[in-house]
Amino acid sequence: MALVGCYECGREISTAASACVGCGAPVALSKGIKAEGGGPQAELLHPQPSRRPQFRAFLWVSLALLSAFVSLLLWQMASKAGVPQTQAEAKAEQSEVAERNLLDAVEHCDKRYAQMNSDRQYTTADLRVYAQLCKNLRDDYKAKWGREP
Ligand SMILES: [Zn+2]
Repeated sequence: MALVGCYECGREISTAASACVGCGAPVALSKGIKAEGGGPQAELLHPQPSRRPQFRAFLWVSLALLSAFVSLLLWQMASKAGVPQTQAEAKAEQSEVAERNLLDAVEHCDKRYAQMNSDRQYTTADLRVYAQLCKNLRDDYKAKWGREP
C-alpha cells in the first residue's frame, strides 16, 4: 500500500482506497497523475512543496468558477432589464429569481469559505481574497435589495 496526493484536493490517500476520503475523487486518476510525476517516493520525501501548487490551482479554479457564475448572473439580470416589461407580475417574478440567485451565490461563497477555513491548508492571503469576494457579493445584494442577505 502506498500514499498518493489526491489530484483534486491534495490530501494524502491510500492507493488501496477507491476514492479520496476528502473529496471523493477517484484514486485511480491521482495514481495516474502521480505516475507521470516523480512517483510515490518523491511525494513522500517532499510532501509539502509538491502538494502546495495543487492546492493553489484548486483554489483559483474554484474562484474562477464562482466569478464566472456571478458574471453570468449579472449578464442575465442586465439582459432581462433590457426587455420591455408590460406586466408588473412578470417583473416581480424576475426580481425574485435574481434575488434568489444572488442569495445562492452568497451562501455558496460562505460555505466554501468556512470549508477553506477549517481545512488549514490555505494561507491567510488565500482566505482574505475569498472573504473579499463574499463581501462583494453581500454588498451587491445590499445595494440591490436594501437589506442583509
Ligand atoms: Zn481529494
